[in-house]
Amino acid sequence: MKPKIDCNSIKFKTWLYFILFAAGLMLVLWIMQVFLFNSAYGTMKETQTREVVRDINQSFKKHDTEKFLHEIGELSDSYDMYIYVVSYDGKTQYFSPSAEDYAKAPSFETDYSGDGTSSDSEFISKIQTLNEHMIRNNGSAYVKIEGNDKSQVILAYGGVLTLEDKEPLIVYVFSPLWPVNSTVQILTNQLVAVSIVALIIACCISIYLSTRITRPIRKISATAQRLAQGEYGIVFRGGHYTELNNLADTLTGASIELEKSLMLQKDLVANVSHDLRTPLTMIKSYAEMIRDISGDNPDKRNEHLKVIIEETDRLNGLVGDLLTVSRLQSGKMVLDISEFSLTEAVESILNTYKVMEMEQDYRIEFNCSSNYIVRGDEEKLKQVVSNLVSNAVKFSGEEKHVIVSLRKKGRYVQFRVSDSGPGIPPEELDHVWERYYRSSSNMVRSAEGTGLGLAICKEILSLHKTDFGVSSTLGEGSEFWFDAELVRTDKLNTTD
Ligand code: ADP
Repeated sequence: MKPKIDCNSIKFKTWLYFILFAAGLMLVLWIMQVFLFNSAYGTMKETQTREVVRDINQSFKKHDTEKFLHEIGELSDSYDMYIYVVSYDGKTQYFSPSAEDYAKAPSFETDYSGDGTSSDSEFISKIQTLNEHMIRNNGSAYVKIEGNDKSQVILAYGGVLTLEDKEPLIVYVFSPLWPVNSTVQILTNQLVAVSIVALIIACCISIYLSTRITRPIRKISATAQRLAQGEYGIVFRGGHYTELNNLADTLTGASIELEKSLMLQKDLVANVSHDLRTPLTMIKSYAEMIRDISGDNPDKRNEHLKVIIEETDRLNGLVGDLLTVSRLQSGKMVLDISEFSLTEAVESILNTYKVMEMEQDYRIEFNCSSNYIVRGDEEKLKQVVSNLVSNAVKFSGEEKHVIVSLRKKGRYVQFRVSDSGPGIPPEELDHVWERYYRSSSNMVRSAEGTGLGLAICKEILSLHKTDFGVSSTLGEGSEFWFDAELVRTDKLNTTD
C-alpha cells in the first residue's frame, strides 16, 4: 500500500517550510546573480578604476620612470586592468599586461606589431576618442566606450602626467565593466551546486528535526490514549524539548490527579455507604426491638426510641456534612461577610457544653480578655469553632480538659483550642484536614465521627483566606488554631 502523506502533519509542514526557505534563498541568489551581478560588478570596477588612476598619479610624483612603470605593472595585475603609457613623442610605450597578453584579452584583440589589422585600428580609435575627450576637458577624461559586443562597456581613462623635471607621460587605463565570462560561468556552476546541496541539507535537517519533534508527541498521544481508557496515574515522557517536557509533566500531573480523585471517589462511596449503613442498621434493629419486645414496656421503649433518635440525628449530621463539603468544594459556597463578635460566638458554642461539664466532669476553660469584633461569615466561622471544640471534647482523653482561647495577634485575632487527649502522630498531622481522614492513634470509635469536620473547617478557612493549623504531641494532646480578621477590640461585657 502506498504510504499516505498527511499534509497537515508537523513532519510534512517542517519539510515544506525548510524546502521553501532554501528555495527562496536560492531564488534570491539567482536573481542577484542574473540581474544584479553585472551592474554591481560595473560599479565596483568604476570605483577601482578611479582608485588606480589616483595611485598612478601618486606613483608618478614619487618615483623615477622605471619604478613608476613597475608599479603600473603591479596595479594592472592586481586590478585586472589594461594600462597603456606613452610619452609625448610616442617613443616610450608601455603596456601592462604586455602587448602579447593584451592582444589575447577579449575585445582588445589588437595587433601591437602595428601591421594594421582591424583590431589595431579599433584600439587606435579608442585612443583617439579618449584624446578628443581629454582635449575637450583640458586634461584628464573618463569615457565609457562600447566594446565589440554592444552590451559590454569599457571604462577608459586618459590623462597627462606632468612634473617639472620629468618628461610628461600620457596614461590610458582600460577597465572592462563586465565580468569575465569564465568568472560568471564558475559562479553559475557554483550556484547550481550550492542550490542542490542547500536543498539536500534542508531536506535532511527538516526530516531530522520533525522526527525528533514528532516522535515524543506520538509517544505522548499513545500514553494519553491509555489514560483515556482509564489507566490513571501513568507517567508521560517528554522529549528533547522543554515545551514537550512541560506538556508531559502537565499530563503526568493530570493523570496523577485523576488517579487521586478516582481513589477519593472510591473512598467516598465506601465511607459514605459504611457511615450510612451503621446508623441505618441500628435504627432498623431498634425499631424491630420495639415492635417485637419493648413495645409494651414504656421504659425500654423510650430507651430504644432514644437510640433511634440519636442515630437519626447522626444520619442527619452526616448528610448535612456531606452536602456542606461538596458545596464548599464545588466552589458554589459564597461567604456572607459581616462584622460580628467572635468572643460572643465562641461563648455561645461553649454554653452548649455546660451540660457535659456538669454531668460528665468535663472541664472547658475559655481564656479571653476582650470582646473581639471580626470580619467574616458568622455562621461558617461558628461552624469551624463548633467542629474544633467538638473534636477537642471528643478527643480530650481521660482528663477531659479542654482550653479555648482568643488572643489578639496584629491585625488578627487567634482562636486556639487545645485538649488533653491522645494527640496525633506527626506524620499524620498534614492529613487530618483531608476528607474522611481518621487518625490511627486515637481510641475513639469511628462511629463517633464522620471524618468530614476538619475538611469542612479547611474549606471555610481557605475561603476566608486566613491562616490555620494544628500542633500535637502524642500522649499529651493537640492544639488547633485559626486566625480571624480583627475589626476592633471592645471591652468585655461582664454583666452576667
Ligand atoms: P471526625 O468527625 O472523625 O472527628 P474530623 O474531620 O473532625 O472528623 O477529624 C478527622 C480526624 O482527625 C479524627 O477522626 C481524628 O482522628 C483526628 N482529630 C481531629 N481532632 C483531633 C483532636 N483534637 N485530637 C486528636 N485527633 C483529632
